[in-house]
Amino acid sequence: MTNLSMKLEILGESAKYDRCNYINTNVDNFLGKSIPGIYHATTSNGCTVPLFKVLMTNKCSNDCAYCINHNKHHFNRVEFSPEDITSIFLDYYQNRFVDGLFLSSGIYKDAEYSMENMVEVARKLRMENEYTGYIHLKILPGSPYDLIKRAVSLADRVSINLEAATPEGMDKLSTTKNFQVDILRRMKWIKRLLIRNKNFAPSGQTTQFLIGAGDENDQDILERASWLYDKMDIKRSYYSPFEAIKGTKLQYHEEPHQKRSPRLYQADHLLNSYGFELEELTFDADGNLDLEDDPKYVAAQANEEIFPVEINEASYKELLRVPGIGKISARRIIQSRKAGKSFEKLIQLNDLGVIVKRAEPFIKLNKNYQSTLKL
Ligand code: SF4
Repeated sequence: MTNLSMKLEILGESAKYDRCNYINTNVDNFLGKSIPGIYHATTSNGCTVPLFKVLMTNKCSNDCAYCINHNKHHFNRVEFSPEDITSIFLDYYQNRFVDGLFLSSGIYKDAEYSMENMVEVARKLRMENEYTGYIHLKILPGSPYDLIKRAVSLADRVSINLEAATPEGMDKLSTTKNFQVDILRRMKWIKRLLIRNKNFAPSGQTTQFLIGAGDENDQDILERASWLYDKMDIKRSYYSPFEAIKGTKLQYHEEPHQKRSPRLYQADHLLNSYGFELEELTFDADGNLDLEDDPKYVAAQANEEIFPVEINEASYKELLRVPGIGKISARRIIQSRKAGKSFEKLIQLNDLGVIVKRAEPFIKLNKNYQSTLKL
């Protein structure tokens, strides 16, 4: 194994802990050997795109308790140069193994040094190699403004991981990262830069929460996410379940229930895409979502005064509150009504994509209840 492929094995593997909806997938080359560092991202329209996802280095001066790269961990530390990453990526790209780059890094020496190396990769690809494809750059906590500006001018998307929802939550996970200054202030800079120049990072900024590493509940996390959508214009938030990795300070910490992250994604979807307010969601006495049912159904049961909804009169917003009616079927209902159609039978809704069994207890058709089920 060459020095470069050894680094690639280590740093491609380390990148998997930054999930952002990317699934590590083994891709084989023509010799049948697995190629490290290739992940598949799911786009908003459901397509999957192979990306080269890698860290510049696993050397890090920070002490994040959940992270294998924390500064007290004694293990093999390696570092790529910008030239290394550029040439590996172009090789992958030209061989059609990948369609884009996702680049992150440990914070070696300081945020400026590491961020500069990452920006240099993007610059080399864009300016020296005329690469016009997808680049996602991680913004390292504490990065200087000028480097962030250069990063957003070169990347399609940037992200800075919050991991925790509150400053107190962050203090329990890291003594070296400052939640307000190193992360939120940088998010605000990114937001302003993207508003001022529409060509900067056209796919916007995203973030990731690490679920279950600290004691923050779902309400804390979704409150922060809702605030970020509102105040920081983030495009998406990701909810990665904490994993107790050997060699980290939290290696014996309990991992979250496997349904917790999926429920957070569903609740996030209601906030970010369905126009729900945080107050419409229902949390248990500990501030957590119901693990057994989806948040929209739980919210509908808790807000029974707004049901049943008359399908022939309800607004788009009201339709979206009904379990079993999604954005596409709600739009189809409105369009059909505009075309003069009246809804009298459940089969008509079924034909528009409504999950009738789910919706039935919450709707009326021509003033008639559709289910014997009582709310
Ligand atoms: S900053 Fe924290 S999360 Fe990032 S590589 Fe360093 S120790 Fe890991």
